[in-house]
Amino acid sequence: MILPTNKLLFYTLRKTILLSLLLLTHVMTYAQGVWNGRKCAVALTYDDALQVHLDNVVPVLDSLGLKGTFYLSGYFPGYVNNIARWKSAADAGHELANHTLFHPCIGDRPGREWVNPETDLSRYTVKRMTNEMKMTNVLLKTLDGKTARTFAYPCGDTKIGDVDYYKTVADDFVAARGTTGEMKKIMEINLADVGSYGINGESGEKLIELVKRAQETNSLLVFLFHGVGGGHSLNVALAEHNKLVRYLEQHEADIWIAPFIDIASYVKEYQSKQTK
Ligand SMILES: [Zn+2]
Repeated sequence: MILPTNKLLFYTLRKTILLSLLLLTHVMTYAQGVWNGRKCAVALTYDDALQVHLDNVVPVLDSLGLKGTFYLSGYFPGYVNNIARWKSAADAGHELANHTLFHPCIGDRPGREWVNPETDLSRYTVKRMTNEMKMTNVLLKTLDGKTARTFAYPCGDTKIGDVDYYKTVADDFVAARGTTGEMKKIMEINLADVGSYGINGESGEKLIELVKRAQETNSLLVFLFHGVGGGHSLNVALAEHNKLVRYLEQHEADIWIAPFIDIASYVKEYQSKQTK
């Protein structure tokens, strides 16, 4: 079929306009930032239900309007003795997250002498581990009423024998936080094992350097804290931790600081849209 010249011209023009609009949308997305309109994303995660998180961390985050993620194990004294305070933290918008009931880790590794034979992950079946993870979701639901949950691998151990145990219950979770020190761009993130930087003794300046690198590379940066101002052998001084969170608060226009679950949900949706 031969189209009249004016009709041909119309189609060509329409195609050009559509392509230009697409290009413009793409450019605008990057100008605004892929991370909920910002250059990068930062999640502040705190492991092992330590009382110092309630005493030192929650108050400073609340004073700056920032939200953190707290990986809780139901068996730890810092959980058992502070249930009402953890509930209050959830009410204030912090994420209560799943770190299992008994924190099982592989015992026969260097530096793992402290692992109790009763909760040695190498003696667990996959079913026992996943039941424990599901039960922890129930426990946390009694505090905050939520069903969506993220997981953090105790000791960063991802396998029982050859089995990636998380994969067998991945549908029960939004994402899992691992312990590999890495920051990735949004399309490169593996939600079954999101990297994080374990902090032990760093200065505030060092922590801020990591954030600046995330800003430059449009990446997701996940901090993994244990002790903050004491409470654990892996520790950061409270004053140094506070330099980091003050920097984050001052740069909120560029940095999306949110609970890990919010960022992971955003990544999940973003990745599924891009691959359609
Ligand atoms: Zn832990």
